[in-house]
Amino acid sequence: MGDLANCSRCNALFLAGTVAICNQCRNKEEQNYQKVYAFMRKKQNRMASVEEIEVATGVSEKQIREFVKQKRLHPAQFPNISYPCEKCERPIQDGRICEGCKQDITKELKRHESNKELDSKKKVKENRTYYSVENK
Ligand SMILES: [Zn+2]
Ligand SMILES: [Zn+2]
Repeated sequence: MGDLANCSRCNALFLAGTVAICNQCRNKEEQNYQKVYAFMRKKQNRMASVEEIEVATGVSEKQIREFVKQKRLHPAQFPNISYPCEKCERPIQDGRICEGCKQDITKELKRHESNKELDSKKKVKENRTYYSVENK
């Protein structure tokens, strides 16, 4: 059993299960997917970009990128499709963020780590000083 919820697409009230969209929207999405997939399956369309697919199928660019993100359309099979990085919106084909943003995050984390290390070193020193004073 699910709870009543608003569809994240059309806002209609529906019985939410594991999905965030109502049946009607899901059916529509499925139809769109079939349209896109039928188009992409043709050998001469394999290299199509998202923009070209939009023109050919009438399915919105956003929806197509959604399919790529859901891995229903695989960039391995269709090399020119992509979806935007969640941070900088550069087109990517895998994961949630692009290489550049990944590196930024790693750098940021490292900086954080070394700050923490410095902090804890300082604390150890402080503790020691405190300790030796206490022992005098
Ligand atoms: Zn809906
Ligand atoms: Zn990015």
